[in-house]
Amino acid sequence: MYYTNFGNRSGGCGHAHKDIIAARQCIEAHRRKCARERSTGGSGYSDRQMYAVASRDAVFDPAGRVGSRVIESSEWKRWY
Ligand SMILES: [Zn+2]
Repeated sequence: MYYTNFGNRSGGCGHAHKDIIAARQCIEAHRRKCARERSTGGSGYSDRQMYAVASRDAVFDPAGRVGSRVIESSEWKRWY
């Protein structure tokens, strides 16, 4: 089981995170970066969601894969 972050518009981080804490740090860093870009007139935008995936090769295409599911932010925000 791996964790990755992917959005149809933003694309994915390409990582196969081994734990949800690392995946959370990754998705939050991307959201902060996008927010910074927006605040300076850029077009930063993050539609990434966190996925649990069954294999490494699913990280670039997690949606709809067998064994993958979206982990809602209400769930991953509990992990520190
Ligand atoms: Zn990542």
